[in-house]
Amino acid sequence: MNTKPKILITGGAGYIGSHTVVALLEGGFEPVIVDNYCNSQKWIMDQLKELTGQIIKEYTVDCTNLKELDTVFENETFAGVIHFAALKAVGESVSEPLKYYRNNVGSLINIIDLMSKYNVPNLVFSSSCTVYGEADYLPVNEQHPIKTAESPYGCTKQMCEQIINDCIKSKKLSRATILRYFNPVGANTSGLIGELPIGTPNNLVPFITQTAAGIRPNLTIFGDDYNTVDGTCVRDYIHVMDLADAHVKSLENMESKKESFTLNIGTGKGSSVLETVKAFEKVNKLKLNYKIGAKREGDIEQIYAETSLSEKTLGWKTKYSLEDAMRDAWKWQQYLDAK
Ligand code: NAD
Ligand code: UDP
Repeated sequence: MNTKPKILITGGAGYIGSHTVVALLEGGFEPVIVDNYCNSQKWIMDQLKELTGQIIKEYTVDCTNLKELDTVFENETFAGVIHFAALKAVGESVSEPLKYYRNNVGSLINIIDLMSKYNVPNLVFSSSCTVYGEADYLPVNEQHPIKTAESPYGCTKQMCEQIINDCIKSKKLSRATILRYFNPVGANTSGLIGELPIGTPNNLVPFITQTAAGIRPNLTIFGDDYNTVDGTCVRDYIHVMDLADAHVKSLENMESKKESFTLNIGTGKGSSVLETVKAFEKVNKLKLNYKIGAKREGDIEQIYAETSLSEKTLGWKTKYSLEDAMRDAWKWQQYLDAK
């Protein structure tokens, strides 16, 4: 008989979700994916099969569709939910706010409703360091005040955190771990899964790899006169496999302590855009075509995480370096180019 705890992974075909599916299997869990493929491709399921040697159960369902999602909960007995499914393009959220509120907030409400109906105790939620805005101090810890959101996307993360906390207070939800991700980068070391941006990438690392691959003529670095180490913005880049591992640890931690948590998930180290480009060039022995351009509107100058609470709470620490992430991101890009 199969006694592995079954975990619902919404958005499991996406970038972070697919890496977490692999980590869950390694951790002795049975992941079940729900995705509507609005920002992912179905062939990622084949990649997961090749990588893990296992067929992962999958439902093509939109989380905003309560009726269809109910059928999934009715068919399966879940020990927990990791809720990744959300739209994440900051710029698009400014031009289409209702799409973001409906999808991101609506999906979470349905998930909590069904967790309550079917007595599913553990929720892990994907939040973001964007909730801190321009930080008052660095490294930013979990007690840092939540700032007025810069975009509807950021606002959905703040609202979702609030909804989760209210539902815990009212006992509608047993417990949750809210993970505030810093900047996830890299790919599985196998090069078989990774980030799959649709159209022109908004994020730095896929832009770097597509430039190195010749898909983009050059990278534009958005500003070099910030008050930072070399004038370019600073972020806390975390390897996606370390991030995936934090989800497994969060489930185990909640199950044993029966408590709720809000945790930063980063490396604790800030890297500038130029340092990131240099790390990519060094580890892959490549020269990247880049130029300095205008600042991007709304960009945060610098942010990186205080990680002591997550490390202590989860018994977790990042294992991979920025260079590892740049190596693996490039491996994935080369796999895509050959495909
Ligand atoms: P992604 O777009 O690669 O994955 C999200 C997945 O959810 C996709 O497969 C998409 O098809 C699916 N999805 C979206 N709406 C859905 C719906 N209504 N029903 C079913 N499936 C739906 O994004 P990601 O980078 O893997 O991000 C995962 C989560 O982490 C998101 O909640 C995102 O906001 C959050 N996050 C991401 C980053 C980042 O830089 N990647 C940083 C902080 C937080
Ligand atoms: N960035 C850049 N050029 C690009 C994309 C990003 O210089 O084409 C910079 C951006 O200004 C920011 C950093 O890279 O300082 C990380 O950007 P990303 O969008 O990946 O993450 P976020 O800003 O959401 O933290």
